[in-house]
Order: sequence, then C-alpha cells, then structure tokens
Amino acid sequence: MEKIRMTTPLVEMDGDEMTRILWKMIKEELLLPYIDLKTEYYDLGLEYRNETNDQVTIDSAEATKKYGVAVKCATITPNAARMTEYHLKEMWKSPNGTIRAVLDGTVFRTPIIVKGIEPCVKNWEKPITLARHAYGDVYKNTEIKVPGAGKAELVFTAQDGTEIRETIHQFKGPGILQGIHNTDESITSFAKACFNYALDTKQDLWFATKDTISKKYDHHFKDIFQDIYEKEYDAKFKEAGIEYFYTLIDDAVARVMKAKGGFIWACKNYDGDVMSDMVSSAFGSLAMMTSVLVSPSGVYEYEAAHGTVQRHYYKHLKGEETSTNSVATIFAWSGALRKRGELDGIGELMEFADKLEKATIQTIESGKMTKDLALITSLKDVTVLNSENFIKAVKETLERLSE
Ligand code: NAP
Ligand code: MG
Repeated sequence: MEKIRMTTPLVEMDGDEMTRILWKMIKEELLLPYIDLKTEYYDLGLEYRNETNDQVTIDSAEATKKYGVAVKCATITPNAARMTEYHLKEMWKSPNGTIRAVLDGTVFRTPIIVKGIEPCVKNWEKPITLARHAYGDVYKNTEIKVPGAGKAELVFTAQDGTEIRETIHQFKGPGILQGIHNTDESITSFAKACFNYALDTKQDLWFATKDTISKKYDHHFKDIFQDIYEKEYDAKFKEAGIEYFYTLIDDAVARVMKAKGGFIWACKNYDGDVMSDMVSSAFGSLAMMTSVLVSPSGVYEYEAAHGTVQRHYYKHLKGEETSTNSVATIFAWSGALRKRGELDGIGELMEFADKLEKATIQTIESGKMTKDLALITSLKDVTVLNSENFIKAVKETLERLSE
C-alpha cells in the first residue's frame, strides 16, 4: 500500500514521561506505516528544555506560527520536586503558558464520546466543547487585606495624568479588596477565536457572563462579542446554519444541564476553569478529552487535556505493566493531521484522520480498553489491555477498516 504524502510539515512537540512513551508507540504503530509523515520535530521533554534554557519551547511556538499546525505531547511543568529530579538550572515556566503567550490563543476542550462510557447527564447526546478565555480577571488580580476602617478607591491614571476615581467601599472595620482587569485586545481575540471555531466545526456558539450585576466589566465582554458578531460573522453564521446565543451565566448553566450537547460554550476565565472540570468529569474521563489552542490568526495546536501521567511512568520505569489511555493523544494527532490535510487540500490525509478516530472508538466499543475506562464502562464483556496492547488493538481495527 502506498503511503499518504504530505506537503507541509506538522510541528511536532514531543513531551515527557508516560505520554512520551505513548507518543513513540502511536507514531510507530498508527502513523508511520500509513503516512509519509513530515514533521518538524521539537523536543519539549524537560531535559532538552533545560539544556536549551527553554529556547526550544519558544522555537516550537514560532514554528507553529510559520506552518500553522502543531501537535503537542503532554509536558512537565516544573515544581520544586522536579528541580532536584531533573537537576534543572531554573524552574522553567509551563510550556503551555509560553506557547499560549506566543500564539495568543483560546483553548477549546471537547470530550470524545463512545458507546459504553455514558455521560452522567443522561440527555447529553453530543459533546459540549468548552472555550475558556485564558487571560486576566481573577487570574491576574491585585489583592489587599484591609486591616481596619478606611476608604477603598478604584483609581485609573491616564498617560496625560487625568484621573478616573470611584469609591469602592467605606470600611468600618477589617475586610478584603481585589482589583482585576482585562483588555479589549484579549477579549477581541477570544471572541474571534470562538466565532472562527464555531464556523470551523459548524456548531452553535453560546456565551454567558453576569452582565446584569457587572454592568461595566461583564457587559463589556458582551458588547465586544456582539459588535464583532454583527460586523464580521452574522452573514457567515447564517450561511453555515449556526447560531450565536448570548445569555446570563446562571441561565447558561441551567440550560447546559438540559441540553443535548453539540455546541460550543464560551466562558470567561474563571467560569471556564470551573465549568471545564465539571463538563469533563461528567463526560467520563480526562483521558477522553481533546484540547486545541486556536489563535486569532488561525493557527492550531492540538494536544491531550491530561498531563504526563507520572504515576504510570514510575511503574513503567520499574518494569511494571501500565494501562495508560492513549485516546486523547491519538486524537491530538488525528486532529492535527486532518487540519493539515484541510489546509493543504490533501483529502487522503483527512480521510485517514477520520478512519483513525473511528478505529479508536470502535476498538473501545468492541470492549477492548484501558483500565481507566474499564472501571466506568457500562459494557459487559470487557478486555482490559495494557498501554501497548491497546494501541495494537486500534491498529488491528484500523487495518480492518482499510480492507
Ligand atoms: P495527569 O498526568 O493528568 O494524571 C493524573 C492522574 O489521572 C493519573 O495518575 C491517572 O490516574 C489519571 N490519568 C490521567 N491521564 C490518564 C491517561 N491518559 N490514562 C489513564 N489515566 C490517566 O496529572 P499529574 O500526574 O498530576 O501530572 C503529571 C505531570 O503532568 C505534571 O508534571 C504536570 O505539570 C503535567 N501536566 C501537563 C499538562 C500538559 O502538558 N498539558 C497538563 C496537566 C499536567 P491513576 O493514577 O489513578 O491511574
Ligand atoms: Mg481548573
């Protein structure tokens, strides 16, 4: 069989621990036999990040800007323990944070739905994609512990020295204060990334804030979204047969619980933090959650939503068997390959991505799965496979689908 040819390389960001082991297996078993795989390889494993003073992470993000599509393996974000474990020169920043800063993106997370792993919310028939704004609000706050009586004010000083001043509160005794901000630039790119992703995936877009209470701050988010929608997206949405829907955050939460799914839910930073964990756990497992960073300029970086699965890696190092779920990492590859195919007009590559996803889902639905899924499935005849044998089982299904 002739291998599928690629014209533009994918930016390949290798990673750490158990996911680095899975990465190699996925390439060898599921990709290289079928695709004349072109990648520009960046080793984001912690050792090489340390060796290059983290330059490799910046280079990989710059390459993503150049080529347009990247696929990333999970990576360690160093903490004190990692400093000693890897003899680090510095406590390097989170690679995802660095990449996000270069690409200025929004993160979209979507559960992978299979029969036998039912969401806890029984009316959710289709995936709910959560789009989280990843800048500002309480994540970049300034706080004061108020010691006693006094006046708290909010002051903005313009470059020419003029001031805007508002009283926050006249304290009669001790209390607390918090200052938060966001920028039009960041909210605008968040809105555009959401509208583009909705068009890309032909799904409705929901957005919600608490604008009835926060009449300036949250209302500004609502206004920016509405303005961009009317100017740039209304016609495109109508043509695609999809809808942009704004509501209050509490109304959105109530509606999400009653909905069938199949839409994108855009959330402000804090709402997205809280709701993405609720949505992902209700859909079954972090190992069944894909994640894609979309920049406003239309650059895509695909990854799994989970980490490097450290506990399994230590078992692996001791020569013990592991049963690590590779589904989200397989889907990171299929997502990136499909997007590359779409951008380069290579239908075969897009078909291969579809087939790889179908093979993965069918393998699980036939009862072959890793331990994490075996623990929660409603299927009766289940074969629990180790990390390697699950990937081999997907390969068998893939071969059968190709006959
Ligand atoms: P983790 O890798 O997400 O794993 C936490 C636990 O979740 C695992 O011990 C395992 O539970 C379960 N799990 C997660 N993914 C799984 C999979 N694919 N298959 C089966 N079980 C899975 O988080 P962590 O162990 O707390 O963090 C490890 C490293 O990952 C950290 O250094 C962190 O910085 C990094 N991290 C990276 C990213 C990223 O690159 N995007 C994201 C998050 C964390 P059991 O042990 O019960 O089997
Ligand atoms: Mg969180």
